[in-house]
Amino acid sequence: MTAKLIKGTEIREQILEEIASEVAQIKGKHGVVPGLVTILIGENPASVSYVTLKIKTAHRLGFKEVQDSQPENISEEDLLALIDKYNNDESINGILVQLPLPKHIDEKKVLNAIDPDKDVDGFHPVNVGRLMIGGDEVKFPPCTPAGIQEMIVRAGVETSGAEVVVVGRSNIVGKPIANMMLQKGEGANSTVTVVHTRTKDLADHCKRADILIVAAGVPGLVKPEWIKPGACVIDVGVNRVGEKVSEKTGKTIAILRGDVDFDEAKQIAGSITPVPGGVGPMTITMLMLNTMKSLKYKLGEN
Ligand code: NAP
Repeated sequence: MTAKLIKGTEIREQILEEIASEVAQIKGKHGVVPGLVTILIGENPASVSYVTLKIKTAHRLGFKEVQDSQPENISEEDLLALIDKYNNDESINGILVQLPLPKHIDEKKVLNAIDPDKDVDGFHPVNVGRLMIGGDEVKFPPCTPAGIQEMIVRAGVETSGAEVVVVGRSNIVGKPIANMMLQKGEGANSTVTVVHTRTKDLADHCKRADILIVAAGVPGLVKPEWIKPGACVIDVGVNRVGEKVSEKTGKTIAILRGDVDFDEAKQIAGSITPVPGGVGPMTITMLMLNTMKSLKYKLGEN
């Protein structure tokens, strides 16, 4: 049997349509739209392309979008002053500082300077704490884990009582998604195990999983025989394993591979995300959703 494909590209379109229609409703009722500022320091090509995509998506949804590009040599003090300006700007609901930052700037200091009520990336310690408490406390779940949970729910996978195994314990994926899956509520109520490089018998843990979430950054780490027949497999890994010339554009593009042996895994799993086109497209989508939510909190509409 071949697994059902959970396509981030399709789920993204559904969610963006939902956000666009909410934007129109709120604009009609309150005369305002969500405002998102992306602060880009320097000209790192990957950062420029991420920010461009975020701004393009915000524009498509009818948000107020501001791209604030600053030179590589901006001082930490000036960057903090810029964040303070947007913290106090009534038309801005979400502030995103594109990482990585130049070495002379303290990343932690910068992220902690963002008003937690505008921290749509969900990385501020206040929002990490809110996520840990769960329930109504959660304001901005971090975007990649939020995208993973949304995919699981929209794919109709039962999470209540499910054995969830998360491979990886990073602050941006592994730890938050593990925490989200064990909370009380829809798309959660799971029994969660987190595994990492010091785990004994990685394969044995994976074999137990009804839902296997892999975020290790190691191409093909999870072997087909580690997958429980019928399990839901969410492959977060995005690994560049080579280059090829695109048939569509003629440009040289990266060959991407996930952390799971996809071709064989899909013969065993019940549902699975592809790489690319799985979790990847969900991250920016959830950033837009968080920005929309931020405006709704302000208007008392949540
Ligand atoms: P990370 O910070 O490097 O963390 C990787 C985690 O995986 C660590 O906890 C590490 O364990 C664990 N790990 C690595 N090799 C392992 C192995 N052989 N066995 C067991 N555990 C292992 O990475 P990340 O930021 O979480 O990202 C993980 C992957 O997801 C990357 O490929 C990244 O590109 C991708 N990603 C995709 C998106 C998206 O699609 N939107 C977003 C974020 C990340 P230790 O803690 O013991 O070192």
